[in-house]
Amino acid sequence: LLLAYEPAKRLARVRISLETGIVGVRMMFQLADRPLTLAEKPDAKPLRAGPGEIRFDNVGFAYPESPPVFDGLDLTLAAGKMTALVGPSGGGKSTILNLIMRMYDPQSGKVLFDSQDISHATIASLREKIAYVSQDTFLFAGTIMHNIRLGRQDATDDEVIAAARAANAHDFITALAKGYETDVGENGALLSGGQRQRISIARAMLRNAEILLLDEATSALDAESEALFRDALQQLTVGRTTIVIAHRLSTVHQADTIVVLEAGKVVESGPHKTLLKQGGLYQKLYEYQLMP
Ligand code: ADP
Ligand code: MG
Repeated sequence: LLLAYEPAKRLARVRISLETGIVGVRMMFQLADRPLTLAEKPDAKPLRAGPGEIRFDNVGFAYPESPPVFDGLDLTLAAGKMTALVGPSGGGKSTILNLIMRMYDPQSGKVLFDSQDISHATIASLREKIAYVSQDTFLFAGTIMHNIRLGRQDATDDEVIAAARAANAHDFITALAKGYETDVGENGALLSGGQRQRISIARAMLRNAEILLLDEATSALDAESEALFRDALQQLTVGRTTIVIAHRLSTVHQADTIVVLEAGKVVESGPHKTLLKQGGLYQKLYEYQLMP
């Protein structure tokens, strides 16, 4: 279970360097400013626009000095649909997101965006397409307005407010004494978990990226926050290729396809009803409400 927090921790370190100004603040959220840990190929080209299909083709991958995570992984994430990744901790869910974002390149096989091998693409063109929403939303000291606008720096106030409305955040924001000018505090400490998540959704709405990667919170939200979040998420994901590491059954239910990963292998995939009938790992996870 602890492993589930690894990527968040790594991203948190990047946030610190952003705040100290080492990396340009085009916003970590856009991923475009992640340090280039991977060398870009000299002949790298920007990705061409497409419907947004992501495909893993016979991918072999191991972290440095570690045993393989994937050994010939084939997986297609349908354009414009929502895919939920579920399964026991350590199965490779976060690694799939890492490979899509090119935090690492596979040692063999390919990750393809609309049939283009992403290892031949410029990193900026790849990360421009991606919005990443995580449990430990990256809120910076500053106002709510500022924090939402990090999704797209040139957005007008009206556009920020429209995004907040779509994310079910506008009402709680305007109920605060200073409204959009409220300071969120260090890491958003002055807001509740549910409020932080909705701000991160507003940011992603504003960003309007083609591909949405979501690492869902394991911590329980209260019922009202949960319903507001679910509703906002539904709006955000329409027509976008969405991949969510799902811990909540309510999210799993929303997905068009569920992929069950165990020890680096896809053991089941399909819609909820089909998987439930199969009586395999998914059915067990579901029955015991275990979505680690
Ligand atoms: P999940 O998200 O499904 O819990 P992960 O993708 O985080 O699984 O992990 C898959 C495997 O890779 C696990 O065996 C884990 O220990 C290992 N792993 C994850 N991150 C790293 C890392 N940065 N370095 C080495 N091994 C890692
Ligand atoms: Mg994980």
